[in-house]
Amino acid sequence: MEKMDWDTLELACRSCTQCGLCATRHNVVFGVGNREAKLLFVGEGPGEQEDLQGIPFVGPAGKLLDDMLSIIDLTREDCYIANIVKCRPPRNRDPQQEEQAMCFPYLDNQIDLLDPKIIVCLGRIAAQKLIAPDFRITSQHGHWLYRQDRWYMAMYHPSALLRDVYKRPETFDDLLSLREKLRELGMRKD
Ligand code: SF4
Repeated sequence: MEKMDWDTLELACRSCTQCGLCATRHNVVFGVGNREAKLLFVGEGPGEQEDLQGIPFVGPAGKLLDDMLSIIDLTREDCYIANIVKCRPPRNRDPQQEEQAMCFPYLDNQIDLLDPKIIVCLGRIAAQKLIAPDFRITSQHGHWLYRQDRWYMAMYHPSALLRDVYKRPETFDDLLSLREKLRELGMRKD
């Protein structure tokens, strides 16, 4: 896919029918946040509320993500938030490899436009796509990887934290580690 500017990319994505997920979606969930931000969060795909509203991370998981950001004094205006696939997989199943492959050029273009210094993967699917195909979220969350001028880290997806509150202390540590990395890179003053 030829690289596009933000508006052209969003327009193309919103009318996309390249994979089967277009048949059941209500809305394409392109992404949200600050297009100048150097911090990018990537989830796996829209859930029910995201599909209905066209915005990533709304509903209970979105509220938890906002709470997680606020722990380290961040808001959605300090970052950009996107997903590996832009349309909701039916019944919230994992996006299939072919669907991820068809959709990935949109995220790749978003990454090109943002040129983030830090990418935080939310959950296994995003980490396996962006960090390593064999990424194990239970043992490798919170680990930093430096590759091609940017830092990568994964933490649990907020939906996983809603299902299992015992994962929250580890995520708190990951958030503190993110805050430290932002400081180290001069991306926050405190
Ligand atoms: S998931 Fe991605 S590739 Fe598939 S129809 Fe939606 S925008 Fe297009």
